[in-house]
Amino acid sequence: MPLLVMKFGGTSVANIDRIRRAAKRVGVEVAKGYDVIVIVSAMAGRTNELVGWVDEISPLYDAREYDAVVSSGEVVTAGLMALTLQEMDIPARSWQGWQVPLKTNSSHSAARIEEIPTDNINAKFGEGMQVAVVAGFQGISPEGRITTLGRGGSDTTAVAFAAAFGAERCDIYTDVDGVYTTDPRITDKARKLDRIAFEEMLELASLGAKVLQTRSVELAMRYNVRLRVLSSFEEQSDDAGTLVCAEEEIMESNVVNGIAYSRDEAKMTLISVADRPGIAAAIFGPLSDAGVNVDMIIQNISEEGRTDMTFSCPTNQVARAEKALQGAKDRGEINFHDLVADTNVAKISAVGIGMRSQSGVAAKMFQTLRDEGINIKVISTSEIKISVLIDRKYMELAVQSLHDAFELDKTA
Ligand code: ASP
Ligand code: MG
Repeated sequence: MPLLVMKFGGTSVANIDRIRRAAKRVGVEVAKGYDVIVIVSAMAGRTNELVGWVDEISPLYDAREYDAVVSSGEVVTAGLMALTLQEMDIPARSWQGWQVPLKTNSSHSAARIEEIPTDNINAKFGEGMQVAVVAGFQGISPEGRITTLGRGGSDTTAVAFAAAFGAERCDIYTDVDGVYTTDPRITDKARKLDRIAFEEMLELASLGAKVLQTRSVELAMRYNVRLRVLSSFEEQSDDAGTLVCAEEEIMESNVVNGIAYSRDEAKMTLISVADRPGIAAAIFGPLSDAGVNVDMIIQNISEEGRTDMTFSCPTNQVARAEKALQGAKDRGEINFHDLVADTNVAKISAVGIGMRSQSGVAAKMFQTLRDEGINIKVISTSEIKISVLIDRKYMELAVQSLHDAFELDKTA
């Protein structure tokens, strides 16, 4: 039997009505002759509530008990989904992570999947079961304790199952109807993409287009799992949503396929550090040890052996970065005159695999921002992405004008 993985996010299983609606979608695929593995999230809001209870009891909680508590939301929806399917006369049963067993390492609250044996579930498919409903987000450690995969981890569960079972596709049902060229709340010209390459989706996911957990896209790319993102609230045709797939499956594509933004960026500048071998290591080593996610870096031109070093990081890590750098200064590892933090910046990125073969994208991006009178503070580029830091108050304007300039409202 061909096999599909169908994942339903929290809003798609938020109450009994929605679980019924999701189960109907599963029924449609079963009727086409598929065996289906359904991965469910907890009901919308439930995981936050569970996390809140843990925090209330114990600010310095035992991560193993945190996982025992926060994994429970998915246990409920898995059982309810299996019952709903049975009511529709579809042979189904639920599986908690440990029953599969979905084996992870011991990094509680951020566990990594190590193995998903397929024999238990396949044996049941062999006995006539048509749908295996699996609780997302959870697994079991080598010590036999319940683990969770990090917030949003059900996406990763779904992709991992699709890879392990060789599914034809992994459908991610959510509350948006696909992946857009940019955030439709910022411009009504945002267009739903029919297809997007793994690499592009990875850039958009990590840049804050919060449709899929970044890890799930990495996993999909590594195992070439075709992912479809679609809405559980609309009647669906076979080509609904957005297919996230290998580049080879995309015939024509715009040079730029998406404009992403991130509101919570900060720009930090170390004024006047000694320009000597090892200075970058002396600055970024302590930042990394402190868990600061440094993104863009520029070293300015030197004068008389001293230079300014600028980098960006998430706004909520500024205090941590300041502490790490002050510590390095106190230990005599680095010296600087001042450390200036600008927390009123946003990052705007243009993403597209077409950039690999076409030049002029950066120039066009910079001209567009110039025409709007927007000053660029930091620039960084990769093979398929150009990012700039600008004043946050121009964020919407920058996204809109770049979306227009690259004609993202039109298909290739
Ligand atoms: N329920 C978990 C969360 O809210 C996992 C998920 O839904 O993906 O993070
Ligand atoms: Mg999610």
